[in-house]
Amino acid sequence: MIGGGLAGLSSAVALAEAGFRVRLLEKRPHLGGRAASYVLPGGEHVDNCQHVTLGCCTNLADFYRRVSAENQIRFFDRLVFAAPDGRRGTIAASALPPPLHMAASFAFFPLLGLADKRAIAQALLAIARSGGNPADLEVGGGGSGMTMLAWLEKRRQTPRAIRRFWEVILVSALDEQLDRIDARYGIDVFWKAFLSTRRGYRLGIPRVPLGELYEGCRTALAEQGGEVQLRAGVRGFLIVDGRVEGVEREDGSVETANYYLAAVPQDILPELLPAEVVESEPVFSNLRHLCASPITGVHLWFDRTVMTEPFLTLLDSTTQWVFNKTKLYGASAEQAENGDQYLQLVISASYSLSTRSRQEIIALCLEELRGVLPATRKAKLVKGTVVKEMSATFSPMPGSDRWRPAQKSPIAALFLAGDWTSTGWPSTMEGAVRSGYLAAEAILSDAGMPRKFLQPDLRPEGLARLWAHET
Ligand SMILES: Cc1cc2nc3c(=O)[nH]c(=O)nc-3n(C[C@H](O)[C@H](O)[C@H](O)COP(=O)(O)OP(=O)(O)OC[C@H]3O[C@@H](n4cnc5c(N)ncnc54)[C@H](O)[C@@H]3O)c2cc1C
Repeated sequence: MIGGGLAGLSSAVALAEAGFRVRLLEKRPHLGGRAASYVLPGGEHVDNCQHVTLGCCTNLADFYRRVSAENQIRFFDRLVFAAPDGRRGTIAASALPPPLHMAASFAFFPLLGLADKRAIAQALLAIARSGGNPADLEVGGGGSGMTMLAWLEKRRQTPRAIRRFWEVILVSALDEQLDRIDARYGIDVFWKAFLSTRRGYRLGIPRVPLGELYEGCRTALAEQGGEVQLRAGVRGFLIVDGRVEGVEREDGSVETANYYLAAVPQDILPELLPAEVVESEPVFSNLRHLCASPITGVHLWFDRTVMTEPFLTLLDSTTQWVFNKTKLYGASAEQAENGDQYLQLVISASYSLSTRSRQEIIALCLEELRGVLPATRKAKLVKGTVVKEMSATFSPMPGSDRWRPAQKSPIAALFLAGDWTSTGWPSTMEGAVRSGYLAAEAILSDAGMPRKFLQPDLRPEGLARLWAHET
């Protein structure tokens, strides 16, 4: 395995369970890839960026179970939204059957008007009645689909409905702006998370720094005689007559194996292959068409408690989410009262911040927090850090699915995993684990030991089930 992100880890654990002896080579000093944590010089454990999962992420949940990390994820049923003036609105499920389970809280949601709600309800109903496959998504030929914004405009959404509802959910779920999102991805988010089941929307947040979730992986590999090696970068694959014969490590040594899995990001893979192989195989040369989108994380430490909720979603702000890390990590009441409070802010599709300085970004976020968390006005900012990930995820642009390869590559003995391979899911932890399981299945099938790891989606419930069957 080359790469110890979620794709490599999930594949490694699955193959070890099938009896394979797996050696995993990771370039960095820690596991987790983009979903990792590290220790700051002051001793604070910070995530590369806050990561959340949803109830509909069935494969990530399965992976956490396999590595005994499932109890480290806490699920929340109430999503709290805050307007710039500090007013709050809550969305939560009621006893009504899906897709009506959110209807009551949506009807009373104070931060949208009647016309916004009517438009949103009609569009959501169109998604639900079509079982998540509205017929009006196709535009022309050429494999390129409609943008989410174009679909919403076709469905006559009000500007406020777009800004305060669709954009808020989709920009953070898909890390892209509405006019650059393939409508199929956007609609899938609403069908899987909010319409088809009661549990799909529940927000799962780790209680511990991300790195602690992967401890069980080492044990799983070791039980079959395998191992994890950190600071073990690979320089390239050695390919002879269309077959991998080994990998050259950065220290110059060569490793050989029966199967090789490349679980590195899509922009790294071509650098590890001979140029002539990349040019002659569209599977590899087409990867340059997958674009990247940025996420900015802002870590703020205050000298006192400024927030009581575990997390908040901000409306009409550059800052999209605020996570109360002190509370989420379960600080004791005494610690929380006496000590600093650590908040993590997340801004997805943060193109507008790419040229802004760290100080400017912190000043902008603090200004926005003053409205929604008035206690920040009097609090002292003890420390602040900004982490800009310019290649956080691949952009789910219309037609991007065309460039995502299957897990079995055209080179013998070489398999691929990564959130960017063909999974049907956007660039997420769930997508990465799906790719890892699919790669393990492909390797096992090649070895004549077929086995299934991929978990099914949650089964639609209530009326949603009926409509899904009808379509
Ligand atoms: C800021 C940010 C916030 C995010 N928030 C969320 C979220 O809230 N929810 C969610 O579901 N997803 C989120 N994501 C997306 C999620 O992190 C990724 O989709 C997922 O982690 C990708 O996993 P992966 O294994 O495919 O790739 P990666 O995590 O990128 O793993 C690839 C690994 O390969 C290693 N590698 C690279 N080159 C070499 C080499 N030559 N030799 C050896 N090893 C090498 C890398 O060091 C890395 O560990 C976020 C991503 C970012 C960046």
